[in-house]
Amino acid sequence: MNIFDMTIHELHTALKGKQVSSVEATAAMLQRIESVEPQVGSFITVTPENALAAARAADQQIARGECHLLTGIPMAVKDIFLTEGVLTTCGSRILNNFIPPYSAASWEKLQDRGAVLLGKLNQDEFAMGSSNESSAYGTTRNPWNLAHIPGGSSGGSAAAVAARQAIATLGTDTGGSIRQPASHCGCVGLKPTYGRVSRYGVIAYASSLDQVGPLTRDVSDCAVMLEAIAGHDPKDSTSVDTPVPNYSANLKSGVKGLKIGLPKEYFIDGLDTDVQMAMDAAIETYRRLGAEFVDISLPHTDYAVATYYLIATAEASSNLARYDGVRFGHRAEADGLLDMYTKSRSEGFGVEVKRRIMLGTYALSSGYYDAYYVKAQKVRTLIMNDFISAFADVDVMLTPVAPTPAFKIGEKINDPLQMYLSDIFTIPVNLAGTCAMSLPAGFSASGLPIGLQLIGKPFGEETILRAGYAFEQATEWHTRKATI
Ligand code: GLN
Repeated sequence: MNIFDMTIHELHTALKGKQVSSVEATAAMLQRIESVEPQVGSFITVTPENALAAARAADQQIARGECHLLTGIPMAVKDIFLTEGVLTTCGSRILNNFIPPYSAASWEKLQDRGAVLLGKLNQDEFAMGSSNESSAYGTTRNPWNLAHIPGGSSGGSAAAVAARQAIATLGTDTGGSIRQPASHCGCVGLKPTYGRVSRYGVIAYASSLDQVGPLTRDVSDCAVMLEAIAGHDPKDSTSVDTPVPNYSANLKSGVKGLKIGLPKEYFIDGLDTDVQMAMDAAIETYRRLGAEFVDISLPHTDYAVATYYLIATAEASSNLARYDGVRFGHRAEADGLLDMYTKSRSEGFGVEVKRRIMLGTYALSSGYYDAYYVKAQKVRTLIMNDFISAFADVDVMLTPVAPTPAFKIGEKINDPLQMYLSDIFTIPVNLAGTCAMSLPAGFSASGLPIGLQLIGKPFGEETILRAGYAFEQATEWHTRKATI
């Protein structure tokens, strides 16, 4: 078996058994990156020297008998995560020279367990997008079909797993950015509950929605990654001080008697037929495994996209005010301070980011604040309440991740509204602050992956992982590999 085809648990067994060293595994991954990167474009920065140095350190750790599940495993993280001493652009020209002085807490936790960083992954600029087309560093391509988008904004994180350029990756999810690319690239992606994982050192997009999470080949890997990154961090005031369960330990308890809700608003007429068929088959599989289905309703679903685009843009307009060319990032040649601000931001930000800053500034402006921002906050509460009431009757919900499989590069780039609407099934979860996972559930007639979404109660990651594991054991979708 090729090293680059392995899961975390497979490579861990090989490392622990000394069949392979971390240096060999890392070198194999670097070679794999070199051979497929010209076609896929998952990375913004590859860090071979740092990776090999970290792998040498991991090998010493293993030689001392300290082999954690993640020790010596080559990974990569979205370029939104600060990485000490390594260029961090967030997909933007405005950060094309930014070398952070410290690392994101989530990446640091993986590193403390001996994980090896291969490099930084491509993404939509400031995580704003669903296709990776807004990156200032080129569009990542879907490894299953290079004419298609990998999804976004963590498109590089999903494509790198699907193209076997990294064993696992980290992404962020504000409105679907882990789950939608995972679905489009045929990998597992989990957005934890708001507060479950520290966002310290993660570049902020919309702070009341952003969460960090893993993208992996299978559910067991996802559980291991989440276990490592979850937990309270005094440096992130929104992180919650509640114990981290041993997610891996409970994977195998099955789904007998599990109550799965099917929200009627998510099974709409316009749903792509291949997606609908995959959902029907998944429901059948769960029935066979002993789960019970309950029809439920999330009545405010129709307002979710509009609500999200008011709240997310409002928060983004405030968060992105810090990019002014003064202390870090791109600084334009200019006449005086105001001119410097204007030119640095005009040159540094791309069209989508500018559009969102303008939308957000408008929603927050005096005279419109109550009509737009405050109203959106009220609707957000209604959406949250929808989830609270529905979860009184069910343990998890099953829905599609996206209404269609990955669309073609260029197909929606000139129609932002169409692009925004493609996030209809993922956005409500962020507004409600709860957790959800995408897992491989089939393929379209043209061979593109289709993902299934399991939505859990707040801090119910254990249940969705267990349900995901049961599905994975009963199907073989996750074992298929893009022929790249
Ligand atoms: N596609 C959504 C947006 O553009 C979600 C992005 C995300 O989750 N970061 O905002």
